[in-house]
Amino acid sequence: MAQRVQGTEDLYDGYMRAWQHMQDVARDLFESYGFNMIETPAIEQVGTFVHGIGESTDVVRKEMFRVFSGALMERLLEAGSESGLKTKQRLAMRPEGTAGVVRAAVEHNFVPQGGAPKKLWYAEAMFRGERPQKGRLRQFHQVGVECLGAPDPAMDAECIIMLMEFYKRLGFKPEQLHLCINSMGDAKCRPAYRESVRQYIYDHKDQMCEDCLERAEINPLRSFDCKNEHCREVMKGAPLVTDNLCDDCAVHYAQVKKYLDEAGISYEEDPTLVRGLDYYTRTVFEVDVPQAGVGAIGGGGRYDGLVELEGGKPTPGIGFAVGFERIALALQAVGVSMEGEEPGCVYVASTSADERDAAFRTTLLLRQAGIRTEADYQGRSLKSQFKQADKHNARLCVVLGPDEVAANAATLRDMNTHEQAQVPMDQLVERVRERL
Ligand code: AMP
Repeated sequence: MAQRVQGTEDLYDGYMRAWQHMQDVARDLFESYGFNMIETPAIEQVGTFVHGIGESTDVVRKEMFRVFSGALMERLLEAGSESGLKTKQRLAMRPEGTAGVVRAAVEHNFVPQGGAPKKLWYAEAMFRGERPQKGRLRQFHQVGVECLGAPDPAMDAECIIMLMEFYKRLGFKPEQLHLCINSMGDAKCRPAYRESVRQYIYDHKDQMCEDCLERAEINPLRSFDCKNEHCREVMKGAPLVTDNLCDDCAVHYAQVKKYLDEAGISYEEDPTLVRGLDYYTRTVFEVDVPQAGVGAIGGGGRYDGLVELEGGKPTPGIGFAVGFERIALALQAVGVSMEGEEPGCVYVASTSADERDAAFRTTLLLRQAGIRTEADYQGRSLKSQFKQADKHNARLCVVLGPDEVAANAATLRDMNTHEQAQVPMDQLVERVRERL
């Protein structure tokens, strides 16, 4: 039997409705903040992710799905190495949304010199070659936003406020949400800070795991969220970024917090919060639902150097991404369903095969009027058609028998009360509409 790839899911019925619901909530909210939707390709040149996400990150080093055509793969296997590949032949599936959006922003000059900020949102599948487990998939879905061209701390605050409102509209109570924020400094103050953390790790190297020693070389800040508890314990004594911010970053961070306070958003400052991707500068944030225990349900931050890394003019940026599958798990844990019911419909039933043609015409009539309509396609008995109607969540049945056809009318049956009334065909659409 054919099987889906491990760590991937089929989205259908209630689960699909939940994903669509999440997108609807996102669209309503994000567009009220002036964000327009964007979709970038699922495949990009590897360089886009390497520059954007950072060479030293797990995502780039271990988790990117690379893409080769069959013909290219054959050549590669023959050559035994991919060193002969041209840049445009090195492709990968997007592991996150920001790098692609920033690449598009550079390519289409979304933020010309002196232009207004460009605000974009997306709802897309992401691909990471991770070891599959609960809440950690190899193909998962995110909604996210990116705002380019706005250095003002008010934009950081607005993004966080909008994110928290998003969770609320999805059904979380504010007290169930745990928001952590931090400032990671910028190109001016972070290099020296990084160096001091590297030194701290070297000073404690006999207490740290192999991975952390490797991280000390390439990305020492990652040791703050090492999977090894002992390492995290040791890292509690490491220098904190918030004690090492330059004046500009400290002022920016203070202003973000002031705006959040003003908006009544509760948060915890976590000076050890470093997000997994290299591109963040200044504000970073992450949200989890402690009682759900599914890990982060979203996060983001500012990335003022990223547009330049992707070959554009210096342009500040900030964004966040929210994982659909984690949200579904977390909502389930707090007893909320995003699935909703299959929308109600009207079911067209006929008492015998003689009325089949009339049923066909009536079904078309209702659908042309934009009414969700189901009918029998299996020659079932009337009783069995009523059962089918219930399965389709039909609120009304339009019943056609010889009398109805002769009178150019239909019997309208309420599926809850079982009340029935005959309606002339030319009034059917209107009467169905009133009662749906
Ligand atoms: P990140 O881009 O790693 O900051 O992820 C943003 C959000 O996407 C996380 O908070 C999760 O909700 C979700 N996410 C990240 N990786 C995965 C994954 N492998 N499977 C499911 N959801 C994920």
